[in-house]
Amino acid sequence: MKIFDLHTDTMMDIANRMYEGETDVLRKHHLPQYEQGQIGAMIYALWMTNDFQELSEYFPEPPGSAQETMIRVLARSFEEFKSTSAVEVARSAEDIDRIRSAGKIPVLLGLEGFYGFHGELGMVDVMYDLGFRHGMLTWNDDNEFAAGVEFADEDFGLTDLGAKAIQRMEELRMLIDVSHASEKTFWDIMEQTSCPVIASHSNAWSLCNAPRNLKDDQIRAIAGRGGVIGLNTWKGFLCEDMETATVKDMARHARYIADLVGTEHVACGFDFCDYFDENDGTPGIMNAGESQNLISALAEEGFTEAEQQAIAWDNAMNVIRKVLG
Ligand SMILES: [Zn+2]
Repeated sequence: MKIFDLHTDTMMDIANRMYEGETDVLRKHHLPQYEQGQIGAMIYALWMTNDFQELSEYFPEPPGSAQETMIRVLARSFEEFKSTSAVEVARSAEDIDRIRSAGKIPVLLGLEGFYGFHGELGMVDVMYDLGFRHGMLTWNDDNEFAAGVEFADEDFGLTDLGAKAIQRMEELRMLIDVSHASEKTFWDIMEQTSCPVIASHSNAWSLCNAPRNLKDDQIRAIAGRGGVIGLNTWKGFLCEDMETATVKDMARHARYIADLVGTEHVACGFDFCDYFDENDGTPGIMNAGESQNLISALAEEGFTEAEQQAIAWDNAMNVIRKVLG
C-alpha cells in the first residue's frame, strides 16, 4: 500500500554523503528503501538550528553558521535532484499526480526551522521561488521568528516577524507545520491563520508525554482546521519507556488520535534516522524499507483497509490538495 511520508531529513544525508565524495546518493541509498517500503511521495525537510553543537553532531564536516550550512544542503540537494531521474520536486498536488504517472517519486520541499534566514522575511518568498511549499518556523530552539518546543527562557510564541512570516506563508499557500512549535507558538499560529495546519511528525502527548507530542486540545485544533498529524517512528515519542517501543505503538497512537478526532486526521511522518550515527527509530520500523510494517500494525489495531489507505496516503494528499492546489 503506497505511503506518503510527511517528514524525512534526506537532504541532510545527501549533503553529508556528497561531502564524503559520494555521488548518486538517492539511487544508491534511498530509492531501494522507498521501493521496498512502497513510499510513494515525501516531504524532504531542510533541517536547521542555531545550536552549534547540534549542527556539528548532524553535519560531520567542519560546521559553519546556520546560513552556511543551509547553503551547502541546498546546493548539494539541488545538484542531486538535477542528476537523478527517479525523483522530481513537486510544487502542487497536481504535480504529485503527474510525477507519479511518469513513474517517478515526487518530493515536496520543506523547511524545518527558519534559522538560515538571518531574520529576513523576504527569505520566505526566496524559498517559495526555489520550489519550497512547506515550512516550520523553528526546530527545537528559538529564532527570530518564534519559540521552539525547547524554548530557552520563556515561551514567547510568535514574534512580530514570525506573525508576518506565517501570514506570507498563508498568502503563498505554503503548508504550515507546527511539529516543533512551542505551545504558545502553536496557539499563536492557530489564532493568526485560517488555513489547514499540519503537525508533520508528532504523536499523542496523552500516550507519551514528550514535549514534541500534541496535547488533546492541540489535536482537536488541528482537526478543526482540516489538518493532519503524521505518526512519528522515533521511540522517545511513542512510549515513556522508550526502550519498550515497537511499531504496534504507532498504531496505538493512530487509534488514540482517530478516536479523538477521526481517522481522516491521521497520516505518516516517519522521521527516519537510520542514516545518522545513532538510530533512535523503533524496532519493526527502523527505516523507509520497513514502512509497510505500520500498515500491518494498523490492521491488527482494527483499522479497515480503507482506513489504512487513508492514513497511509489519502489524508496527506487531501490536505496538500486543499492548501497547495
Ligand atoms: Zn523534526
